[in-house]
Amino acid sequence: MSIERAMDILRKYPLCNHCLGRLFARLGTGLDNEERGRAIKDYLLMRIHERILNEGLSDELLNDIKALAMSGHEPSIKFLSNMGINVSPVKCYVCGDNIFTRLNEWADNIANSLRSLGIEFRSFRLGSKVPLDILSRELSITTEFNVSSAESIKREINRELGKRVSAILGVPFNREEPDVEVVIDINTGSVETQVMPIYILARYRKVHRLVNGEGR
Ligand SMILES: [Zn+2]
Repeated sequence: MSIERAMDILRKYPLCNHCLGRLFARLGTGLDNEERGRAIKDYLLMRIHERILNEGLSDELLNDIKALAMSGHEPSIKFLSNMGINVSPVKCYVCGDNIFTRLNEWADNIANSLRSLGIEFRSFRLGSKVPLDILSRELSITTEFNVSSAESIKREINRELGKRVSAILGVPFNREEPDVEVVIDINTGSVETQVMPIYILARYRKVHRLVNGEGR
């Protein structure tokens, strides 16, 4: 999908940087979605600014900057306030109160739950339960604008949480055969953990070998 389409989307739906960036997930390797969304908004503002310098200010261009400002784009908010126009950001259409600001808090909860298992695990798998209304708003945008390059919000949340938890505990995540599995419900913040049967079996064998004096 062309970056120009991002303006069409933002005219209709205010999206935070994460939720806009995910729609263009295939563009700009090395950027995370937050950086990508921010870069797209910067680019759109520069395009509008260029047109204002060339053609003069029109209602169309002014409304586009307002749409960017409403999506929380600081440079657009500043641009307007220099013109004496105050626009406050509104909630992200997809994720609401920007759930991504809570990633660190959730990662801490997950790390604590895994620690409280009291076992030494070598890897973990992480999943999340995302409220249905968020998923259906996301789907409505990708359908309406025919976006095939989007990453799902669930995947972004799992990856961002996995990275953080992995850094806290020093244990890799999402291996093929993890020792433990953890699922967070992002609606309630509650965390469920499960020790995988294969881990229990391996521990049992190890203990068994030690008891019987084997393997020394
Ligand atoms: Zn969002």
